[in-house]
Amino acid sequence: MGITLRTFDGGEKQHFPGGKEIPCFRCGLCCTLLQPQIDEIEVRHIALALGLSRSTFQKRYLNIYQPKPGIYLLKRRREACIFLRRAGKRGFCLIQRVKPQACRRWTASLTLTECQEGLKRLGGDFLAPSQLYDDPEERSAFYQRMKDEQKEAFSHPETSEQGQEIK
Ligand code: SF4
Ligand code: SF4
Repeated sequence: MGITLRTFDGGEKQHFPGGKEIPCFRCGLCCTLLQPQIDEIEVRHIALALGLSRSTFQKRYLNIYQPKPGIYLLKRRREACIFLRRAGKRGFCLIQRVKPQACRRWTASLTLTECQEGLKRLGGDFLAPSQLYDDPEERSAFYQRMKDEQKEAFSHPETSEQGQEIK
């Protein structure tokens, strides 16, 4: 099932999790361009995790504008989600452990325009995976994804047909 996110300018974006997942390289662009919609249960859950009352959490972190009754948006700060913190070119979620479902279900992928753009902003085509990921497991998951992509590209019927013509 897809998730509906709000775009920073008030529009909506449908995202269908799945696809060609890669480990997130934490450019923070999705948290800048998109906003999760959160319901009352999530509001209370995050407030509790932060040790805040429902009303204090609302005052500090929820946007006054509600897209629908019972649905909330997090405030924005410096043109990004209020919980996004930057360290150099990287972004980190301050509520990683209790972040909204929509953020959990949003997975990085080479097919997402946000991740493609984030990659460009980090260093374009010349960025090595070792510069993208500090964690060796994330690095090898990324290499594996690239290998799978290559295999898929070469096993594609159009590619093999073209290959035969060249022979
Ligand atoms: S809650 Fe965290 S993951 Fe979700 S948009 Fe905000 S900073 Fe990003
Ligand atoms: S745009 Fe992609 S790589 Fe960048 S933080 Fe979001 S999911 Fe991760």
